[in-house]
Amino acid sequence: MTYRDFKDGIKLSRLGLGCMRLPTVGDDPSALIDRARANEIVDYAIAHGINYFDTAYIYHGGDSEKFLGEALNRYPRDKWYVADKYNTMSGPDFKGIFEEQLERLKTDHIDFYLLHGVTDLKADEYINSGCIDFFREQKEKGRIRYFGFSSHATPKALERMIEYGKGQWDLVQIQLNYFDWAHGTARGQYELLEKNGIPVMVMEPIRGGKLMSVIDDASKAELAKELPGASLAEWALRWVMRLGGVQVVLSGMSTLEQIVENVATFEKDEPLNDAQCELLGKAADAYRSSIAVPCTGCRYCVDGCPQELDIPELLGIYNSFKVNGPFGLGGLDVLAEDKTPKNCIACGTCTDRCPQLLEIPKYLEELAQAATFRL
Ligand code: SF4
Ligand code: SF4
Repeated sequence: MTYRDFKDGIKLSRLGLGCMRLPTVGDDPSALIDRARANEIVDYAIAHGINYFDTAYIYHGGDSEKFLGEALNRYPRDKWYVADKYNTMSGPDFKGIFEEQLERLKTDHIDFYLLHGVTDLKADEYINSGCIDFFREQKEKGRIRYFGFSSHATPKALERMIEYGKGQWDLVQIQLNYFDWAHGTARGQYELLEKNGIPVMVMEPIRGGKLMSVIDDASKAELAKELPGASLAEWALRWVMRLGGVQVVLSGMSTLEQIVENVATFEKDEPLNDAQCELLGKAADAYRSSIAVPCTGCRYCVDGCPQELDIPELLGIYNSFKVNGPFGLGGLDVLAEDKTPKNCIACGTCTDRCPQLLEIPKYLEELAQAATFRL
């Protein structure tokens, strides 16, 4: 494993284990974590030098923290660092939630503590809630070692957060990958953090795995010619490796195969060269033109939907429709009548919760119309 110096003599592994997509019992992503399979992943991580484990109060409905508390405490406390997060979505009782998190993780301190998923809309919510002062107090007491936030904000809102806590943010976690660098706000966010000397933790380096499945065949052939045997995940991770301000790259690994492959990528410090980046950029452009909605499948929108629609699934069908025309609408056939897109009442709650700020009601309306037209 390769490492980067953080602060105070701490060396963090360049690959971190994101714990929002651990294997579950059965296929339902909201089910409890499959302890045996998830422990294998944690054991492999620790045996191969990963020392950064990222969770949140809401991951796996709370089971991610509980599982990590069990799994990591099988090892000495100085073998691992845990990053955890508070989200205003979980309610205003940040004090009670923080105590519960310590309990779930079975620890007296959290190494890296973050406000979760700051967006343009949520920045004020965090600032006005009083939680920032509380978490700073916890840091003074040694119950939090380093304090920061994860962001899906535009560079403008990110700048506001940076200014608000000027000089006091120890880290910021952002969504960063070659696709969002070229077609989203990742570059602006990264450059702002670098300018302010704030270490960057990277989430979604492979966009929840989606950057592996959407590259077209022509681009895949070009990439394979350039780096025979390298997977698309390796390309994406080695692209992130180029950025000097990046401290830890988090990957939400769900299988042993994925962690074996990603650990192998981070055994060497071998970022892509300029020509390889250009090739990847072309693949990203082709991907961009082939997709309609860049949903990452994080499911943050789902809980607030009064119609209980499976929004990411519907957006998946929408994308399939955009790529394949009416043939791509097959996914609608297996939905219950009250879960089809026409049931959307356009209340907009989902868009407020979406880190990608997707205009979901608009897409669902288009999908509903396409479904009607098809009939
Ligand atoms: S707009 Fe539609 S999908 Fe979004 S929250 Fe409202 S009902 Fe649900
Ligand atoms: S629509 Fe937005 S919040 Fe919902 S799953 Fe997709 S990216 Fe996440």
